[in-house]
This record gives sequence, C-alpha cells and structure tokens, in this order.
Amino acid sequence: MNAVPEAPRAPERGDAVLVAEGLTKHYPVRRGLFGHATVKALNNVSFALSRGKTLAVVGESGCGKSTLARQLTMIETPTSGRLVIEGEDVAGASRERIAQLRRHVQMVFQNPFASLNPRKTVEQTLGEPLAINSALSASERAGRIAHMMRTVGLRPEHAKRYPHMFSGGQRQRIAIARAMILDPRILVADEPVSALDVSIQAQILNLFMDLQEQFKTSYVFISHNLAVVEHIADDVMVMYFGGIAELGPKQTIFANPRHPYTRSLMSATPAIFESDRRIQIKLQGELPSPLNPPSGCTFHQRCPYAIEQCRIEEPRLREVDGRLVACHRAEEVGDADA
Ligand code: SF4
Repeated sequence: MNAVPEAPRAPERGDAVLVAEGLTKHYPVRRGLFGHATVKALNNVSFALSRGKTLAVVGESGCGKSTLARQLTMIETPTSGRLVIEGEDVAGASRERIAQLRRHVQMVFQNPFASLNPRKTVEQTLGEPLAINSALSASERAGRIAHMMRTVGLRPEHAKRYPHMFSGGQRQRIAIARAMILDPRILVADEPVSALDVSIQAQILNLFMDLQEQFKTSYVFISHNLAVVEHIADDVMVMYFGGIAELGPKQTIFANPRHPYTRSLMSATPAIFESDRRIQIKLQGELPSPLNPPSGCTFHQRCPYAIEQCRIEEPRLREVDGRLVACHRAEEVGDADA
C-alpha cells in the first residue's frame, strides 16, 4: 500500500502575503462511453510567499503549474486545502470580500498577443480596471494611466493606440501595466517571457524586478526555464506530476539540487551550468498519464536513482539540507554528485 503523505505545513513566514496549505485540485473526466475518472492535477501543495519576494514555480508542461495559478488567482476553487491571502482564509470569505481579494492578486499570461483585447486601445485596457474598482475621475484615471505607461517603459502619447501597433515586448509591457494598475499585493505570472524573443526576455525580466523594488509586489513566477528562474527567484518550487518535488531558497537548490528531477531540469539548461562539473542527468520518457498515475514515487519510471522502495512507497516532503524535498534518496543524490 502506498504511504499517504500528510498535508505538509507551509513554511513559517511571519511576513507572508499568501499561504497555501495542502492545495489540491482534482478534475472529473469522462472515460469511455459511460465511465468516469479523476485527474489529480494538483496534490497537497503548501508554501508561503513573503512580501516583496518571488517564488518561482518550475516544471514541465502538465506538472500542475497552471492549475496552481488558477487556484491562487481564485479563478477556480481547490478540491481541498487552504488558501490564505493577506491573513484571510479565502474559503471563509464572503463573495464581496473575494471580489476585493481578487483585486490584490493579478495575473500576467504567457502570450500578450492573446491576452489583450485587439479592439481596445491601451487607454481603454488600462482604464477599465480603474473605472470598475476606483472612484477616480476621468482626468485622474488618465493621469494614472500615463504614469503607469511611463513606469513600464511605454510612451503615454501612445495611449490611443491598439495592441497590433506595438511589438511583442511592448504588448507584454501593456499586459504588465494592466496587472499593476490596481497596485496588487501579488502578481501571478504564467510563463510571461517565454513567447518573447530572447533579446527582449531580459528587458521584461528586469522590468518585473524594477516594479517589485518600487511597489513591493510579491510574485509567483511560473516558468519552465531555469535560466529565467535563476535571474528572478528568491525561492524555487520544483513541481512534478501535480506535487512538490523540491522547495527552498534559490541559492540552496541551485548550489546542490537534491531531487533527481531538479537535477535533470538543470542538466537540460546548459546556459546556467556551462562550467558545472556535476554529473548530468538526462530526463528520459514523458510525464506519466494523469489517468494512470504510477505507484510509489511518481518520478520512479524516469529516475536513474530509483530503487524498489520508490516503486512502492510515496516519498514524503521532508527537510534535507535547508530545503524541502520529496525523495527517499535525497541525501545520497546531492552528495553523490556534488
Ligand atoms: Fe527517484 Fe526514488 Fe527519489 Fe523518486 S524517491 S526521485 S524514484 S530516488
């Protein structure tokens, strides 16, 4: 029988603006003509996000990153677990309060070509949230829009332009301005630079960092790219098959990753590890089918460290060497390759 892990407690953070405890999301799906099954997209995810800090969420597509984003932005309700924003448990909040909390948690999407309404000017795109959520007059709104455009590196005299009149990088600046115009406490950014030219990516990452410095916004920054994560993160959460593989401070995890999946992701990122002498782990195979999850450790079919115990017993998330890691062999993995 598989060992069922307890819901891990979120790490203690006195200044946390967001705490997730045991967040779980299951979706019912049809199977065949009359059957049905459950896809466990997110399993028992716990973490704390500090004010003005960035938690980077890393993993392959299908690992649960976007499902997590939909829970954090309250687009969906988790199947179980707790989400606490600014000290308030979302599950116990009234509808009006949830609407207020939603203003504090804004989102930036991957593709600025799709996320902006092509029929709205920048002024309309940025003005809409202000008109709905503030008591500002039209001229005050115009002033706020001009200020925000300058803040994200756009020219206010372009406020009457439509999205197609801007480059990809400029469109993402518009999307960021729209997310920031209500001064949110938390920004959830889902692969916000991966659709952009490499030459533009660094500029947009620097913009995120400048805005954080200025407004003390906390970021949940979702990315499959560890070079990007290394640039922007304070803490890193590596996800695999809907669960946490490894979670801890960026320096700790990058210096000596202790989950074989983290190591394999890093091995596939040569830009970071050009001078790295550690053993490289090539990631083999695909993510297992969510309709047919493996027994024991969900990574065991792809893991070069797998032993019999891994096929039988699900590893608990536990503290090893300054981070949380879900691997029976975490102590050996890090030490053997260091
Ligand atoms: Fe690999 Fe076993 Fe660790 Fe899972 S528990 S990552 S299979 S060594």
